[in-house]
Amino acid sequence: MIKILVNDGIHPDGKLLLEKAGYQVVTEKVPQDKLEAELPEYDVIVVRSATKVRKDLIDKCPKLKIIARGGVGLDNIDHDYARSKGIAVINTPAASSQAVAELTFAHIFSLARSLHLANREMPGKGDTAFKTLKKSYSKGFQLRGKTLGIIGFGRIGQETARIGLALGMNVLPVDLMINDANIDIQLYDVDKVQLTVKLPTVSMDEMLANADIISLHVPFTGKPLLSDDSFAKMKDGAILINCARGGTVDEDALLKAMESGKVAAAGLDVFESEPTPRKELLQHPAISLSPHIGASTGEAQRNIGLELADKIIGHFGS
Ligand code: NAD
Repeated sequence: MIKILVNDGIHPDGKLLLEKAGYQVVTEKVPQDKLEAELPEYDVIVVRSATKVRKDLIDKCPKLKIIARGGVGLDNIDHDYARSKGIAVINTPAASSQAVAELTFAHIFSLARSLHLANREMPGKGDTAFKTLKKSYSKGFQLRGKTLGIIGFGRIGQETARIGLALGMNVLPVDLMINDANIDIQLYDVDKVQLTVKLPTVSMDEMLANADIISLHVPFTGKPLLSDDSFAKMKDGAILINCARGGTVDEDALLKAMESGKVAAAGLDVFESEPTPRKELLQHPAISLSPHIGASTGEAQRNIGLELADKIIGHFGS
């Protein structure tokens, strides 16, 4: 019988699918330092980002046939080495795109109406200083007609563009590889009404000079994509959203740009120093915060579980 170790969790529907296919699925987490002893008896390991599957571990597991990663990114797996040993490495890059795009807009809406601050202050002062708070948070803005810059026009960038277009925003995407994309806007459950917008990418400089709100959707490639010189090219009072990866934005440069007023506000889901983000960011009144939860919706987790199960079953079935 095929034995699968699910070490960082899986949605129950994904587990059920694997069990229905006749596999033995073990979901008790094995600590990283015990994997060398336990993983050799398994055919498949399923991980998220927590469990590391490095060369040394792979060498100890001659039975291993699949390393499956729920989500995007394979940073925690020596995937080239695994493939060179004939082990299949699979992931689910598209399953959480909508969840991340929606979180991006959660931060944008929050900043547009100062909800992040109102939520911090209302519990303590809402009954004694209601009018003062009302005055403080009465300078909101609406999104229709604003320009949204998107850095990285892949899966999540395109989902973000879709929401931006539907809200009436002017969308300026930037991408190293993509020149344009067809963005479909469909009404829920209504097949006949569909709008397709062909959206071309623009240069980074054009986007930086024109965007009111800039959102990052790129992988981390070893050094920040946005640092002092990029902030200098932004419109005064721009808003920056990072739901991509810590390190894609130089946090010193961001704080400097916020101090000078170049950047009016930021929404951050990811940080350079996770899991201990710096206090200047956490306590900044103009930053809307979340603890790296971009893909953490029930729907995305279910999509990930089902897609992983399908791919594992497909592998052994073929
Ligand atoms: P994707 O590969 O579909 O798209 C990334 C795009 O970025 C590609 O089109 C690529 O050409 C472009 N790109 C790369 N470097 C660039 C650069 N320097 N300038 C301009 N464009 C560049 O990836 P995706 O599925 O859209 O995911 C994007 C990122 O979102 C992931 O790499 C991951 O870091 C992040 N993510 C975050 C969460 C979260 O929990 N916050 C969850 C999932 C993914």
